[in-house]
Amino acid sequence: MRYIVLVGDGMADFPLPELDNRTPLEVAFTPSMDEIARIGACALFCPIPDDSPPGSDIGNLSLFGYDPKASYTGRAPLEAVNQGITIAPNQVAFRCNLVTLRDGCMADFTSGHITSEESAQLMAALNARLQGFPVYFSPGVGYRNLAIVTAPPDQVAELANIFCTPPHDITDQPYAGHLPTGPGSEFPRALMEASRPVLEEHAVNHARIAAGKNPATSIWLWGQGMAPKLQSYRDLFGITGAVISAVDLVNGIGVAAGLNVIKVPGATGYLDTNYKGKVAAAQQALREFDFVYLHVEAPDETSHQGRTDLKIRAIEDFDAYVVAPFLEYLSAHPNTRVLVAPDHVTAISTRTHAYGPVPFAVAGEGVVPNDVDVYSERAAAATGVVLTQGHTLLPRILKSARLDFMV
Ligand SMILES: [Zn+2]
Repeated sequence: MRYIVLVGDGMADFPLPELDNRTPLEVAFTPSMDEIARIGACALFCPIPDDSPPGSDIGNLSLFGYDPKASYTGRAPLEAVNQGITIAPNQVAFRCNLVTLRDGCMADFTSGHITSEESAQLMAALNARLQGFPVYFSPGVGYRNLAIVTAPPDQVAELANIFCTPPHDITDQPYAGHLPTGPGSEFPRALMEASRPVLEEHAVNHARIAAGKNPATSIWLWGQGMAPKLQSYRDLFGITGAVISAVDLVNGIGVAAGLNVIKVPGATGYLDTNYKGKVAAAQQALREFDFVYLHVEAPDETSHQGRTDLKIRAIEDFDAYVVAPFLEYLSAHPNTRVLVAPDHVTAISTRTHAYGPVPFAVAGEGVVPNDVDVYSERAAAATGVVLTQGHTLLPRILKSARLDFMV
């Protein structure tokens, strides 16, 4: 059996007045996802436990089949693992966004989607200029960088437990009340403050301003934690697999799970991503591995932008360029299961992630159809089936010979 998981990050949403009380998934033209639901099963599951923040880290861990409550140490440690960084017992990894702060507000948590090349130059400057701090900066994809902090042994846990706010949760809001708080938070605050003059003077930012783009005015630290510990897919399920994503944290879960991370050129995490390359890489991987996890970030990014039109386009692109080829794959390889799901709701109305159940659809060998003919939040809810322990969904798909979600 081959197992394929296709993730449209944040594609679930709430009904919107501007869409006549329909959701983007309901409005978007998605014949392939509808077909998965029609020939297979569709219902709701809860990727985010009630007492966990609704982030992509928690949501993807659940989708991969790990109980976030038992396995989660933070988003940044997963991204660090992906970059091949070993986090020592006396270290804490922070996500280090490059952000645009303007007029006391979080004007842009992506610094105008700053490029990886520009980010790398800015991280190098921070490493050179902030040597008085016990930290090193490691560049990632675009604005998504890391800061690895070394702490005295008695302060590591404290540093891991500081309360930090994800910058995408406070877009266009005053940031002052959202700086790190709690015991030990003076350190990340001081580091963020110290980054500002270094960034302000840098040629990369001068060029961005001259080109009318948002400059990176500050680092923003969040998502921190100590080294992650996940049991491997081989030990848990006896299978091999691959992960394809533009996003470090998703790849990091893959590395921590003992899966092969396949990097695809031109995978950007946005609407212009290389769908074709990702799908080709996934289908190639299926010749070698039992399992492929293909993650697409664009529905989430467009939701954070508050752009309903772009979110619908991202969903339609996901359907046409990602789901459709695997529907074909499924008809050519019946000994396969294909799961389509988001990792959480990203609400256009608030421009951020939200709690709540999200729809999944799964088709393939041994899947008992349950009379759903479209893939949407409403259609999934109408089945009355909600897997409240979201992390149990994938293990069921990987382990059960017969998949009947109505019993
Ligand atoms: Zn997400």
